[in-house]
Amino acid sequence: MEKIKMTTPLVEMDGDEMTRVLWKLIKDELLTPFVDLNTEYYDLGLVHRNETNDQVTVDSANATKKYGVAVKCATITPNAARVKEYDLKEMYKSPNGTIRAMLDGTVFRAPIIVKGIEPYVKNWKKPITIARHAYGDVYKASEMKVPGAGKAELVFTDENGNETRELIHNFKGAGVLQGMHNLEDSIESFARSCFNFALETKQDLWFATKDTISKKYDHTFKDIFQEIYDKEYAEKFANTGITYFYTLIDDAVARVMRSEGGYIWACKNYDGDVMSDMVATAFGSLSMMTSVLVSPHGYYEYEAAHGTVQRHYYKHLKGEETSTNPIATIYAWTGALRKRGELDNIPELGVFADKLERACIQTIENGQMTKDLALITTMENPTTLNTQDFIKAVRVTLEGLL
Ligand code: NAP
Ligand code: MG
Repeated sequence: MEKIKMTTPLVEMDGDEMTRVLWKLIKDELLTPFVDLNTEYYDLGLVHRNETNDQVTVDSANATKKYGVAVKCATITPNAARVKEYDLKEMYKSPNGTIRAMLDGTVFRAPIIVKGIEPYVKNWKKPITIARHAYGDVYKASEMKVPGAGKAELVFTDENGNETRELIHNFKGAGVLQGMHNLEDSIESFARSCFNFALETKQDLWFATKDTISKKYDHTFKDIFQEIYDKEYAEKFANTGITYFYTLIDDAVARVMRSEGGYIWACKNYDGDVMSDMVATAFGSLSMMTSVLVSPHGYYEYEAAHGTVQRHYYKHLKGEETSTNPIATIYAWTGALRKRGELDNIPELGVFADKLERACIQTIENGQMTKDLALITTMENPTTLNTQDFIKAVRVTLEGLL
């Protein structure tokens, strides 16, 4: 078989620990034998981030703006222990945070569904994609402990020095205070990313806030979504046969539990943070969760939702056998290759991505899987494979499909 040619490079962001090991195995076994991989390589492994004072992360995000599509391996976010372990010059920021800030996007997370790994919610038949707004609210808040009686106010001072005040509370005793914000620009980007993603994946879009209680803050989110929808998307949604639906967050949660899935649930920052953990766990496993950052300018960055699987890596270093699930990382590659194929009009890339995904699913449904899935499957007598052998098994299935 002749290898598939690519015209535009994919931005390749290598990473750390066990996922770095997976990265190489996936390329060697599942990609380079079939695709003439054209990537612009950035090593975001912590050693190289340290060597470049983290410039490599900024360069990789700029390359994503240039080419449009990136695929990223999981990376270590340094903490005090990592500063010591890697003898770091400083405690660098999270690469995901840096990249997100530069590309200004929304993170979409969706579970990969296979027979034998059953959701805990028995009526969930199709994936539920969570779209999390990744800016502001409680994540950029100022807080204060109130020591005793006194008056708390919100004060806004405009550029000419004019003040607007709003009473928060007349404290009779001690308490706590919090001030948070968001930006119209950021909410508009969030809305457009969600509407575009819904059109692209042909799924309904749900959005929910607590607008009945938060009549200015949350209501602004609701209004911005509605205005942009009416002006720019209503017709496209009708033509695609999908709907946009706004409801109160309480109602949304109840409907999600009763639903059979198959839609995108747009969430404010905090709601998305907690709900994505619930949805991922209820679908079975974090190692089966894909993640893509979509920017309103049309840049895409694909990755796995899990981290670098540090515990498995230390076993690997000691020469012990590991059984690490590569599925989410493989899907990061297939997502990126499919998107590259779409943008460059190379349908073979999309067909290859579909077949590689099908190979992953078929291998598991045939009873061959990594340990994390073997522990939760409803299948009887699954075969638990180690990291390398599972990837080899996927290759055998893939060769059958090609
Ligand atoms: P993690 O890598 O997500 O792993 C936590 C645990 O989940 C593992 O120990 C393992 O459980 C299980 N697990 C996760 N992915 C798995 C897979 N593919 N196959 C099998 N089991 C899997 O989180 P962590 O170990 O707490 O964090 C390690 C590093 O990842 C941290 O330095 C953190 O900064 C980084 N991180 C990066 C990203 C990112 O780049 N997007 C996201 C999150 C965390 P068992 O040990 O029980 O087998
Ligand atoms: Mg969370």
